[in-house]
Parts: sequence; C-alpha cells; structure tokens
Amino acid sequence: MDTRTGLPVVGMVGGGQLARMTHQAAIALGQSLRVLSVSPGDSAALVAADVRIGTHTDLAALREFAKGCDAVTFDHEHVPTGHIATLAAEGVKIYPGAETIVFAQDKQRMRERLSELGAPVPLWRPVSTAADIADFAAEVAAAKTARPSRHAARPDRDAPRDSTAGWPVVAKAVRGGYDGRGVWRLPDLAAAEELVATGTPLIVEERVPLQRELAALVARSPFGQVAAYPVVETVQRDGICVEVLAPAPDLSEARALEAQQLAIDLANALGVVGLLAVELFETADRLVVNELAMRPHNSGHWTIEGARTSQFEQHLRAVLDYPMGETSLAAPAVVMANVLGGPAGGMPIDERLHHLFAADPGVRVHLYGKQVRPGRKIGHVTVLGDDMASVRARAARAARRLQEGE
Ligand code: ADP
Repeated sequence: MDTRTGLPVVGMVGGGQLARMTHQAAIALGQSLRVLSVSPGDSAALVAADVRIGTHTDLAALREFAKGCDAVTFDHEHVPTGHIATLAAEGVKIYPGAETIVFAQDKQRMRERLSELGAPVPLWRPVSTAADIADFAAEVAAAKTARPSRHAARPDRDAPRDSTAGWPVVAKAVRGGYDGRGVWRLPDLAAAEELVATGTPLIVEERVPLQRELAALVARSPFGQVAAYPVVETVQRDGICVEVLAPAPDLSEARALEAQQLAIDLANALGVVGLLAVELFETADRLVVNELAMRPHNSGHWTIEGARTSQFEQHLRAVLDYPMGETSLAAPAVVMANVLGGPAGGMPIDERLHHLFAADPGVRVHLYGKQVRPGRKIGHVTVLGDDMASVRARAARAARRLQEGE
C-alpha cells in the first residue's frame, strides 16, 4: 500500500506501451503504477514515477521489485515461470500465476491444454524433423478428403501419396513469437527442411480457411468474477494487427455469445487472473482458437474510449480483486487503428499531429513515446461513431497521416 494515499501499489513487469497505458488507468484509481523496465527510455519508464530498472529474467531484481507491491502483473509474457512460482511461494500476489501464464508463453502447451479442454483448435502437432512435417501434411490432406461429407469415399490408402496435398502448412515457434515473427507458411518439404535446420522448437498447424479474425477479451478476478467485452474483428497485415473493429461487423448474436462463452470458460479453466484475450479464426462454419494472451492486448485498445471501462483499468481491478467494471460499448461503432513507424524522414511527428488534429478533431490519439522504426507499433488512434464504414475510413486515414505524414 502507498502510505501517502492509502491506495494499493500494483507492479507491472515490463515497460512497454501496455504498462504506459495501464499507468494512465492507475492514475484515475488514485494509484501510481510501479514499473520494472529494462531501460529508462522504455515507453512506460518515460512517464511513470516509480520505475525500477532491471531485467524480467533476473530473480533478484523481481524480488526487490515486488517488495511493497499489493499485486504484481505483466506487460509481456517473458518472465520465466520458475521465477513467478518462486515469488508466489514467497507470498507475492503475482497474476497470472506460473501454472496459467505458461499457456500464453508456450504454443505447444497451449494447444495441448486447449485440446484436453475440448476447445476448437486447428489440426496440429509438435514436430522435430521435416519428415514429421510431411507426415502432418499428409494427415491434413486425409482429413480434408474425409471432411466434406460423411459419405464421401475413404481416401485410397494404396494410392501413391500426392506430395503436394496438405501443403502449405503453418509452422510456429513454440516460444517467443510475436506480431507474426515465429510463424511460417511452409509451401513444401524443402521449406520444411530449411526451417527445421534452424533448430527452432516447432509445432505445425493446418492452414485454417479463415474468413476473418476475431478476438474475445475477458477479465477474471481471484474472487472468480468474470467480465466479457463485446467481440471484435481484428484485421492483420503482414502478421501485424492494423485495425480492430468493435463490435465485429455482421457477427451473429449466437456466434458472439459462443466466442464470449469460450473465453469465459477458458479463463475459468486456466485460472486466469487479469485479462485474457482469445484470438480466434472465423471460418465458414466455426470458430477456432488461434492463441491466448494474458495481459492487456492490442485487440482491446479501443476500450479506452470505446467501452465504459478500459481494458487497462479492468486489468488493475482484476489483479486487485476489485469488482469488474461495465464493458458495454460507448458508441455503436468503434475503430482502433495502429500507427506503425513509417519510412525514415518526411514530416516530423509533431507536425503530423497538427495536421491530423486540424483535419479531424474527433480522432483520439495515443502515442507511446517510442523511437520510430519502420513497422514498429508507435501508437494508435481510435474513432467512435454511428456508422462502421465511415468510422473505419476516418481511423485508417488518421493512422496514415501519422504514419506517412500524408
Ligand atoms: P503471433 O504469436 O506472432 O501473433 P499468431 O499465431 O497469432 O502469431 O499468427 C500470426 C498470424 O498468422 C495470424 O494472425 C493469422 O493471420 C496467421 N495464422 C496463424 N496460424 C494460422 C493457421 N493455422 N492458419 C491460417 N493462418 C494462420
């Protein structure tokens, strides 16, 4: 507890934009987020008053950081689970726990657990050789032949194996991927051989015939209260989320409820405390879980202005075991567009901001105080309105102005 205010101290491990925006929410609750940051120049370290410099893999630094915190949580999932378990055993309230966050760290453990829970997942398999990947592609081909109709002829087992059937498959690094890094579309055996030669531990998945991507965001407290946000559509380019549309356009109520229920069930089954973002693929006839994140998530940035309670405040409420806030939309259509670093040179960012504010005073801007590098997420914009198409066009235009200075 902060004796100056009588209010709790939450520590967040990691000093990125998620910690920066969580700090903003902490201020409104009378708190000041404590941040463990690798460098004083990190996004949250630039603005928080209580910054400790240290690495998230250093147990001594984590121990020191946790002293005096009412709860400790994360801006990323790279803290070793052994360290989290040690701190918890020493009495630190650290959320989510080691036995839970592992499913957001390790794609193989996540797929295994989701399969055990009966959650909808793509066909997948852990692999260690290119031959394993080829076998998997053959399995995918067989499943596809079997799937269209229950009465379709069984694949002819004696027929020569078609070496192109089942490809491409999607390979993923078991650990450490983000923004599409660590995901590879493998068109053939040669590509599989090349990837396996790098020695990266891998799983492979069937390429899901997705129509679009959705995200279901929920928050869960230690008491067990769960709050679900409206389901959103996430639009990716080159593996990076570029837009989030809330609510997901033309999503049937049944599908939306199914996605929310799935996220609630997973939060309960995995014992999540804090936020859980369930990234989903929507195909012609079903939802498939892509991956899990257990922290504030890019698919929830729209909630700062677009929902009654922002995901950042909700995460704080959850880890402090406060009752959850209302999650309903603040407008019929909300769009968040990420601002990525554009090519070097051109109009300074401050001048771009001038132009944007002059062009559209209704746009809400969040810049993360990060150095501009091409493709790096440096901020986001949010637009609220009545009509999704026009709100989306305004958000995209605003992001482009900041990104490219047009
Ligand atoms: P990251 O951890 O880097 O975010 P993801 O597992 O979310 O990686 O994959 C990044 C993107 O790759 C997804 O948003 C989706 O567009 C595509 N993708 C991933 N897995 C599959 C799959 N099994 N089938 C089709 N597309 C996929």
